[in-house]
This record gives sequence, structure tokens and C-alpha cells, in this order.
Amino acid sequence: MKYISTRGQSPAQSFTEILLGGLAPDGGLYLPETYPQFSTDDLTQMRNMNYRELAFAVLSRFATDIPAADLQVIIDKTYTAEVYCNVRDGDNAADITPLHTLEPDLHLLCLSNGPTIAFKDMAMQLLGNLFEYVLDKAGQGINILGATSGDTGSSAEYAMRGKHGVNVFMLSPHGKMSRFQTAQMFSLQDANIFNIAVKGVFDDCQDIVKAVSNDHVFKAAHKIGAVNSINWGRVAAQIVYYFKGYFAATDSNDQQVSFAVPSGNFGNVCAGHIARMMGLPIKHLVVATNENDVLDEFFRTGVYRPRGSANTYHTSSPSMDISKASNFERFVFDLVGRDGDKVRALWSEVDKGGAFNLASSEFSEPAAFTRVPSFGFQSGVSSHTHRMQTIRQTFETYGVMIDTHTADGLKVALELREPGVPMLVLETALPAKFEDAIREALGRDPVRPAGMENLESLPQRFEVMAADAEAIKQFIVTKTA
Ligand SMILES: *Cc1c(COP(=O)(O)O)cnc(C)c1O
Repeated sequence: MKYISTRGQSPAQSFTEILLGGLAPDGGLYLPETYPQFSTDDLTQMRNMNYRELAFAVLSRFATDIPAADLQVIIDKTYTAEVYCNVRDGDNAADITPLHTLEPDLHLLCLSNGPTIAFKDMAMQLLGNLFEYVLDKAGQGINILGATSGDTGSSAEYAMRGKHGVNVFMLSPHGKMSRFQTAQMFSLQDANIFNIAVKGVFDDCQDIVKAVSNDHVFKAAHKIGAVNSINWGRVAAQIVYYFKGYFAATDSNDQQVSFAVPSGNFGNVCAGHIARMMGLPIKHLVVATNENDVLDEFFRTGVYRPRGSANTYHTSSPSMDISKASNFERFVFDLVGRDGDKVRALWSEVDKGGAFNLASSEFSEPAAFTRVPSFGFQSGVSSHTHRMQTIRQTFETYGVMIDTHTADGLKVALELREPGVPMLVLETALPAKFEDAIREALGRDPVRPAGMENLESLPQRFEVMAADAEAIKQFIVTKTA
């Protein structure tokens, strides 16, 4: 299997060749040349597989340049009940992504049982083991530099801690993350993890990462890499749980299901789109946004209009506070018939801070944006008030506590679900991660998973630094000398 760029001007590469990189050289994102297909017979064979077997059935079709036996070992050590242990009472950790039924045909697909209790662990834990494998083979190392306002950074650190050949330098805005998120990251004592609390805001952290990455000489000399949401390995790993959820919610392959996905960078739902393209019987992929509704606007109107940081709101579902959806280009590549020239033309506007409109293009009917239904997408928006209501109602009706992001997904799912079509809402974080919001909604604290009760009182290891790219470069040089 080879990977091509959405902008059509980069040479095709293998899975391990693109694993450690970010964007393709032409500025596009990598996608497989063709999507592997699963027939009804294939699905029948997969129906009773456990998570590791399913992961192998799916990922072996993508990672074709990793020997099967090696891939099996990597998958088997990633997806264990010990790693994904933070399940609700009554759910089985051996399922890895348990299906928690709220009522007939309405389920949570629980993806947040990993070490940082957010769904990013589903892919990042695999990426940690894949990185170590590929670097060991090549006798190389990598220094991952990232910026985080919470979930991505902690998930990357818990995935990369103690891995050979990998150092992590994670910038976060000093004093601006929640106490829980700060403690989760800063309590790590592993020698290869460096937490840098930058005196500034998240945008300052991101600017530093960009400045260092644009210094091509420094980047090459110090093997600077990233694990951001456009990494193909992350998207590929996320495809697996759509299959797992489908089999858990149906008895036969004639049935269709819909998934509701709390969305920000479009990485999670992009994996759902690919699962559907591979033959999984998905009726609708319901994109749920918070007040940052750039994706809902597109699916309603055909206009994709990324926002500036002044128009990006801080909300109570902060992991969905994005101004542009970095994985969206992958879907648009399929939407325009996999035409790299078209994608390049559309993003020439976007990259200049502009927008594009597909509503009156050949990809749509003139009056309404109707091309997208053939890909099964629907969308909706949720706000702070909806989130609070949904958390309260879910707790009162089902006795189940959900976090703010999952609440956005459930709110939109309830509006769009159809009789007879099971609706699976992806649970993207546990409520313990967002205590303040739960206290506001329910007047009580969420239960913390075992072992996390005293997180904030553990010793913390971090450096406070000025928002100065040169100083951060110097820090990386000193620590990796
Ligand atoms: C990252 C994240 C999201 C958004 O996922 P995307 O792949 O960026 O669309 C939603 N909820 C939580 C809790 C997250 O951490």
C-alpha cells in the first residue's frame, strides 16, 4: 500500500516512510492510494474478533511494509485491558472500547479508558509503539516538539514515555491548563519527557513550534518531529473502533448504524469516513461541533471558512476549540473525486486566510449543498447551555455521567437519530477530566478513576521558560547533547 498527497504533487510513499513525518512535501496530507475493501463475507469473519484481532485485520491492510508478525506484536502490546482500564462500572476492559447502552438503539462507544482518559490514547498508544519499532530498526532517534492546551500533549507523553529513541519536548501555556491536566503531564518523571511551561498563551507555544520547524537546518540537525493530528498513523488506528462499535451494536451485516462524533480537527470522524469507504455499513456520520462551528457551517452550506484566533472561542469543551479543521482536507480530497489539482486550488485560498464554497460547484446541486449525503455526513452545533442540559439529563435519565465533549455529541445525536438505526455516540473523554464543568452541571464532583485520586499532590517536573524560540532550541540542544 502506497500513500499519496491530497495535493497531488508528492511521490507515493510507504506506511513507515510517512509514519514519522507530518505534511507531504507539497503541503498536502497523506492518504492511501486506494481504500482496502471489506466485503460482507469479510465482515462476517470479523464479527466475533476481539479488539486486537480486529486491529490487525484493519491495520495490516495499511501498514503493508511492516512484517505481519511484527505488527501483531505491536498491536498485542498496545491494546490490552491493563492499558485501557479506566472503564465504567459494569463495562468490560477487555473490550478495549466497550459499548455502553443508554437505551435501545442509543449507545456510548467508550474510547476514553486509556491512561489520560481521553480518546487520543486510542491512537497515540499505538503510535508510541510504532515509533519505537521503526526507530529501533533504523538505529535512529527523534525529538518530538509539540504545543498543547491539554489533551494532545498528555496523550503524547503517556504514549512516548520511556520509549527508546524518543524524546518529547511539550510546550504548554504556563498556568493556563486545568489543575488536573497540568498534574497529569507534569507528574511524569520519565527522563525522556520534558514539560516546558511557556510564559504566554497557547498561540505563543504554537508559534514557537512553527518557528523551530521552519528552521530547516536546526530541524534536520536535531531530528525534530511531531505527533500532531494530521499524522496518518493516528487516523489509521482510529478506524478500528468504528468496526468494533458496529459489531457490538448489531447482530448482522445487513444492519446500518450511525455514529455521532464530537469534532474539532476532523481526525476522529475522518477515520469514520474511511471505515465507511472500506465497506462498513455506516448510514450517517454526524459531526457535532461546539460554538466553534466551522465544520457545521460547511456541512450545512458548502462554505469552508476557517476562523482567525480572534474568532475562536474558549468553551467548556476546550478540545474542540479549533479555528481550522486540520484533517478536513482528507475528506475534501475524496469529495472532489480525489483530484489533487482541485484540492490545491481550494487550499490556495484557505492557506491565504480565505474560504471556499462548494455549494454551487459541480460537487453540489445549485440550490443546496446536497453532494455530501452520498458520503453520509450530517452535522449540528451544541453550546454551553446544551452541554450542561445534556449532562444533567443523561445523569438523571440513565444514571450515566458524561463529559462536556461527549455531551456535545449526544446533544446532536438526539436531534438527528432515526428509528431503527442504532446511534453510537463516541465518548471522547471521561468526566473526571473536566471537573469544573461537571460541578456546574450536576453540583457534584465526577468520580476519578482508581489511581488518579491524588494526582495533584504528586511531585511535578517542568521548566518555566520565556516565549522565546531561541531559548527553547538551546534547551533542546542541552538536553539531547
Ligand atoms: C481531540 C478531542 C476531540 C476532537 O477530535 P478531532 O479528532 O480533533 O475532531 C474531541 N473531544 C476530545 C475530548 C478531544 O480530546
